[in-house]
Amino acid sequence: MSTTFPGALPLPPAGVPGLADWRAWMRRSEGTDPWLPGWCQARSTTFWLGINLGVALVYLALGWAVGRFFAAFGLFPAPIWLPAGLAATAAMLGGWRLVPGIFLGSFLVNGVVFSASPALAAAISVGNALGPLLGTKLTRLLRPTTGLFTRFQGVVAFILGAVLLHALITASIGTLSLLALGNLPLEGAGASWGAWLLCDAGGTFYFAPSLALWLGVERTPPVPGHRTRRHAALLDGSVWLGTAGLAALIFSIHLPPRLPSPQLVFLLAVPLSWIALRISLRAAYTLLTLICIIASAGTVAGLGPFQSGGAVNPMQSAGMLIVLCGMNILTLLALVSERREAEWALADANRMLEQRVGERTEQLRLQAQTDALTGLRNRWGFMAQAEAALGEAQRSGHPFGFITFDLDHFKAINDCAGHAGGDMVLRMVAENCQPVLRRQDLFGRLGGEEFAIALGGLDPEATRAVAERLRDALRSIKPGFSLPAGELTASFGIATSRPGESLGQLLLRADKALYIAKNAGRDQVQEAV
Ligand code: GH3
Ligand code: MG
Ligand code: MG
Repeated sequence: MSTTFPGALPLPPAGVPGLADWRAWMRRSEGTDPWLPGWCQARSTTFWLGINLGVALVYLALGWAVGRFFAAFGLFPAPIWLPAGLAATAAMLGGWRLVPGIFLGSFLVNGVVFSASPALAAAISVGNALGPLLGTKLTRLLRPTTGLFTRFQGVVAFILGAVLLHALITASIGTLSLLALGNLPLEGAGASWGAWLLCDAGGTFYFAPSLALWLGVERTPPVPGHRTRRHAALLDGSVWLGTAGLAALIFSIHLPPRLPSPQLVFLLAVPLSWIALRISLRAAYTLLTLICIIASAGTVAGLGPFQSGGAVNPMQSAGMLIVLCGMNILTLLALVSERREAEWALADANRMLEQRVGERTEQLRLQAQTDALTGLRNRWGFMAQAEAALGEAQRSGHPFGFITFDLDHFKAINDCAGHAGGDMVLRMVAENCQPVLRRQDLFGRLGGEEFAIALGGLDPEATRAVAERLRDALRSIKPGFSLPAGELTASFGIATSRPGESLGQLLLRADKALYIAKNAGRDQVQEAV
């Protein structure tokens, strides 16, 4: 059901449930002013004038309906003042921009519906506009950056600011206005103040979260694993409607006095919590607002569990039921959401760690196969890759050429140019030979001044031609100091793989040919037999 609500984010494709959604939600929540939903950003003055007018009219309509309803049962002031919830939501939505609309709505309700003098209506309305503005400012100050209703700190910020400070200000300014204008005797001030505080706090607490969630003033992240599958939507819908129906039923009949009905009715908290955790906070809070209306209507009409004889003050008991249910779903969802968020962060950290370990392992693997001096493959790396290449050539029936070469009289270079000079020559060997080879040829340093090359697909003639070109390349090396023999030479042994021959055997034959070359006077290529 939650995913069909306007503004719901798409559900995650796969992998960690909800992780992608969570990130999208965090990004969207961080980038913008959390108190200003997308549909209100960068709007003209006309837009805000229209919203102000809308707030005033809805305030008037709600005030008229709630006031009339409770007055019909002799309850004045109304025990639950829903316009306070509207005012708090409007203050959350637009801050000072919507203060005129709240003031106008309150002025009209007090003046027209409750027939207060213009001065009294204006004085009360100053409180009714200032209360939500300052209360929601405090909430904004205390709240976490994301998740007003999905963090414990957010729930506390909401209750302290938007609910309590708001009601404290409206009740205080309202009571003082009544006293100042002679509409209230001093001894009645305490009771009036208390009743005013409770009805505004209640109205905000029951009504503001669902309104804020519906208007997009606050968003909650989607419940992980909750899909729009038909049976899930059917189940969600049935639980929601079933709970609303149950509330309507028990508050519209005279229950037998022997039933422990006031206690039983608290069981409504169970499906409410289920809806908050499984569907969405918005669905749960909307239902809570509905239950609040049903319970208030039933109780003041003398029906339902609190009128069956058990409760001393039926309306107060109904209020308690709703406050407890509201506290229950808000705190429960906040705690579960915090845990969910921690799990998501952990999964994210694990994924990052896995990626880093993978990259580092690959780096180490490459390092372990590389010769630090020349950057060529080392003996281990060369043998491993050449073995795979030989296997591939043997399977596909292609020839496989192999060359080993050993620099001639290298010791003499070290002796005259020092170890550093010898190192430089070794590096130049790697650099100068590389251009002679194809990209797919494997070139490695087997150790000391002995090198090897694996040439997949090359027959004996082609292999010999490569060896001759390498011999020329070595001769062209000019290290910047005079070489003892005038130029750099090497002795080459070449071999071509035989069917079923291992790399070790091939290397042995090429090495034997190399020693034949050494013994035959160096600076030459010898082919293995
Ligand atoms: P031959 O013509 O018979 O191959 O004579 P050679 O002097 O090249 O052969 P020998 O095996 O007697 O000497 C190889 C020398 O290479 C000995 C060793 O000090 C030197 N050597 C081995 N590894 C390195 C290295 O990494 N850097 C330098 N500078 N010298 C090295
Ligand atoms: Mg040598
Ligand atoms: Mg050697």
